[in-house]
Order: sequence, then structure tokens, then C-alpha cells
Amino acid sequence: MPGCRGQRLLFPNHAAQEGLTDQPRAGRNRMPVARFRFYEELNDFLPGPRRKRAFAHRCAREATVKHAIEALGVPHTEVELILVNGESVDFGHRVREGDRISVYPKFESFDVSPLLRVRERPLRRPRFIADAHLGGLCKYLRMLGLDTLSGHGLSDAGIVSVAAREGRIVLTRDRDLLMHRAVTHGCYLRARKPREQLVEVLSRLDLYRHATPFTRCMRCNGLLSPVAKERIAHGLPPRTDSFYDRFWACRGCGKVYWQGSHYNKMEQFVDELLSSRNG
Ligand SMILES: [Zn+2]
Repeated sequence: MPGCRGQRLLFPNHAAQEGLTDQPRAGRNRMPVARFRFYEELNDFLPGPRRKRAFAHRCAREATVKHAIEALGVPHTEVELILVNGESVDFGHRVREGDRISVYPKFESFDVSPLLRVRERPLRRPRFIADAHLGGLCKYLRMLGLDTLSGHGLSDAGIVSVAAREGRIVLTRDRDLLMHRAVTHGCYLRARKPREQLVEVLSRLDLYRHATPFTRCMRCNGLLSPVAKERIAHGLPPRTDSFYDRFWACRGCGKVYWQGSHYNKMEQFVDELLSSRNG
């Protein structure tokens, strides 16, 4: 694999790390036993004894590597690179007896794109659907201008269907949701608080350059357009029209926005958020 700066990480000393807690029973039938090793934060999905070490696992007959990885509890959306016996493979690779399978999350610090084979290509213009438990995150992403639907009122199958149809990245803390076959892009949130989740999504998916703050409705995800004061003045709170001259209306739900005191706080938050990345 020429030009791979992560070579030392990509080819760890398996022999030194292999655990034999699950003794393979090779040859008993055609359910292949393979050795798995998960890296970095993918270990969060594994039970303690399987973390940060190689272990043997008997897979289902004719299992693909995607199926085997999910059977071990790791959603395929969290996986960026799979090496089987040192070669990069896609999710459809059939597990064979004796395979050594190394599974990696997204690499933050070096470029392994020539190696990536698990999915065709990243989504160009990131769009999201957040499950119903991530209402706060959903609003923050909209505040940054990122196209984010809410899964509120939708079943898991409904969320999966919208994501597949519209090419949206599924945001959730429910790993089962990410294991649906039709989900190709997803992000499992580890943080529990909306602001921390926002930082997590921005950094993991490298979204900072996509932010266009205050261009989208936080209530419905519609785009905002400037609107003349006289057109909306009748619906404003008392005296608002005498303090402010610039207004925006949502093309979706009609909600009117102006740069009041709440806006200043949000603007400060956004500036800190984006400058923390840039600086
Ligand atoms: Zn709206």
C-alpha cells in the first residue's frame, strides 16, 4: 500500500495482541471463524473483553464482512476502512475461515482515501435527518444553515426511508437504527448534550466549511429570505418594528426572524464555535 502514512497503525502486531477468549472451533461446519480487531472509538460498541485486542468470532454462513461487524454490535455507518488479511475490502466481502479482519473508524489525522472501499464516496452536500431524541442538535444544525430534518413522528423505518430517498446522513444515539440495510451514511452520537453533540458532528464529519449561519429556519428547516418590514409589521411583537429594520421570513412556515437580543447570543455562540476550529 504505497503512500500510506498510517502504515504503522494499519498493520499492528496482531500476534502480540490476539486474544483467545473465544476459541475457534475450525472445521466443524461451514461457519467461518475469523479474527477481528476493532480500532479507536469503534471499541465503544464492544463488550469489555473484546476491546482493543484481536479476538476470534464464528460468523454466520456466507456472512459478509458488513453483517459480521454488525453482529458484533458495531453499526456499519461508523466504519470507514476494513482490511482483510491486509487488503482493503468493501462491505460485501464474504468472510472466510481464518481471515484477519481489522476495522477502522473515520481517520481524522491522515489521508487514507486511496484505501477506502467500504462505500462509494462521501455525500457531497451534507444533509441530515436527526432522530426524535436529538431535537436540540437538530435546531443547532439548522442555525448553522445545515439542512436537517427532524425524525419526530417518524418510525425507524420512516427515518431510514427518508434518508435513503433524499441522501441524508442519519444522526442518532440508537445503534440499531444505523444497522438498517438501507442506511449508507450515519453518525452515532456519543455526547448527550446538544451543544456537545453539535461539536461532535461538526468535527467528525468536518462540517465547519459547510456552515452558513442564520440562513435556515430553526423551526422547520426552510430557507430564510429577506422580507420588507411593511409586509410583516402587523404580526410583530409591540415596538419591534421601531427597533429593527431588517427582517427575514421562512419560505416554509412563514416564521419571521430579526436580529434581536437572542440573535446576539446565538451569533456569539456561533462565532466561538467556528473560530475554535479555525484558530
Ligand atoms: Zn420555518
